[in-house]
Amino acid sequence: MAKLLRPDVNTKFHIDYDWWTDTGRDVRVVIWEHLCPECKAKHGTYADTADIDWVDSDTGEITVVDGLRYSLRECCSQRDDYITPSTTLSASIFRVLIANGNAPLSATEMHERIGKSDPRAVLRLLLGKQMRTHYGIKPILE
Ligand SMILES: [Zn+2]
Repeated sequence: MAKLLRPDVNTKFHIDYDWWTDTGRDVRVVIWEHLCPECKAKHGTYADTADIDWVDSDTGEITVVDGLRYSLRECCSQRDDYITPSTTLSASIFRVLIANGNAPLSATEMHERIGKSDPRAVLRLLLGKQMRTHYGIKPILE
């Protein structure tokens, strides 16, 4: 019998890109919304992007990433106004995951990066419908 696991503040969450593919939706629509004004101007529309070879500065590993995701991570997430006190908690969670290269993070870790609210509130939001159906953010339960 598989043990029934309940997500807690240490459960890792990530953006489930397979879910986006499976539901036939384009994650770039949402990513585009979170770009800084300069990147929005540069890209024009969410559809108007090319893939980029991204080199991991630590490992030297090359991965092909979507141009929008690249901009959000390499430009917008470096800006002081990427996550501010007026950024909604749900948008902050999405932005933190993108900035982290979608490496899974727990509610506790997200809270440390966002710097407001508290881990339990972050977890409640993560388990809510909006994070699943708008952002495709899912827990990783093993
Ligand atoms: Zn930008």
